[in-house]
Amino acid sequence: MSGKKMSSSDIKRKVGILGSGQLGRMLAISGAQLGLTVSHYHDADSPPAEIVSKHIKGSLRDETEVKKFAALNEIITAEFENIAAETLKFANSVTPVLPSPEAFRIASDRLLEKQLATKLKIPIPKYLPVATLEALRLASSELPNAILKARSLGYDGKSQSKVGENLEEAWNSVGKRASLLEEFFNFNFEVSQIAVRGSSGETAFYDLARNTHERGILIRSVVEPEALPELALKAQNYVSAILVELNYVGVLAVEFFVKGNELYFNEMAPRVHNTGHWTIEGAETSQFENHLRAICNLPLGSTQSRGPCEMINIIGSEPDYRAIFSTKNAHLHMYGKEPRPGRKLGHVTVTGTTESQIAKLVNNLL
Ligand code: AMP
Repeated sequence: MSGKKMSSSDIKRKVGILGSGQLGRMLAISGAQLGLTVSHYHDADSPPAEIVSKHIKGSLRDETEVKKFAALNEIITAEFENIAAETLKFANSVTPVLPSPEAFRIASDRLLEKQLATKLKIPIPKYLPVATLEALRLASSELPNAILKARSLGYDGKSQSKVGENLEEAWNSVGKRASLLEEFFNFNFEVSQIAVRGSSGETAFYDLARNTHERGILIRSVVEPEALPELALKAQNYVSAILVELNYVGVLAVEFFVKGNELYFNEMAPRVHNTGHWTIEGAETSQFENHLRAICNLPLGSTQSRGPCEMINIIGSEPDYRAIFSTKNAHLHMYGKEPRPGRKLGHVTVTGTTESQIAKLVNNLL
């Protein structure tokens, strides 16, 4: 804390969250525990966070309403990176937004993210920006084995398409929008680094999570404390550079592809992240609590893992509740969402003392 004593008047107690999904819900639960007042501004019907905090429903484009919401709070944050820049601008003109609107601007555009990584000398897969079908034809002769990704508004593998023979089909599937053609990367596995930076610049890093995606959607994250020491050091250096460059405050998640001993930046999120849900039971302080601590000007909590653990997403349909509740060390989190194919409805974190113990417990659930 740079030796500066924190006075209680520096602490922010009223937190306004733009958006009201499961991330907002878990932030609100954590905030209630810390004695903070958390409220949400959103435009959804019956959103996941509704049952745990105060809610104001309105358009995120409505300047007057967004400013009114901001005025009710001492600090504003957002739970999704694709939030319109103007919404953040309205809020920030009344009450500080953290992480900064600039961090949101970069993280909502794959091209800006990649340019940032390049500037900071973080390796990335080869890519070419494309703005027209004609440009895509040219680019794909240079990168024949590639994925087309819309620059913005893509998540969970949406707005991206493996490019085959039919370029027009790929172009249509990303909505004919400004995109990146990215080399299809033969990675060994994927990891994410969840980090947190406080308002006086102190930073802390969680253990790397090793993640498995299917059709672009996260299926599971596995954490084996200190299992990947060389990669962990690299991840911390790369993410540290991003945090400093953006003068970042809050939790930042960065996803990497791993090939050999190197990490390749894939994307980042200026918020708590699905690959950090394991921290609720698996670490001394959860990512949700640490995000709130950082933006409220409180000291950060320890990011130390409590032991190995595994997080499994519940996607599309209700889980087998009996199996989960009869599995030792299985911790269930449901988000209050109606089942729908491909929709994240909840997650289970299994903690244990050894990897083989966790594998046995997880096998019970699958
Ligand atoms: P993204 O939305 O970019 O995080 O992509 C979702 C998932 O799709 C990633 O986590 C990877 O599993 C896969 N993916 C994305 N980009 C590539 C790539 N260039 N090569 C191979 N797989 C990829």
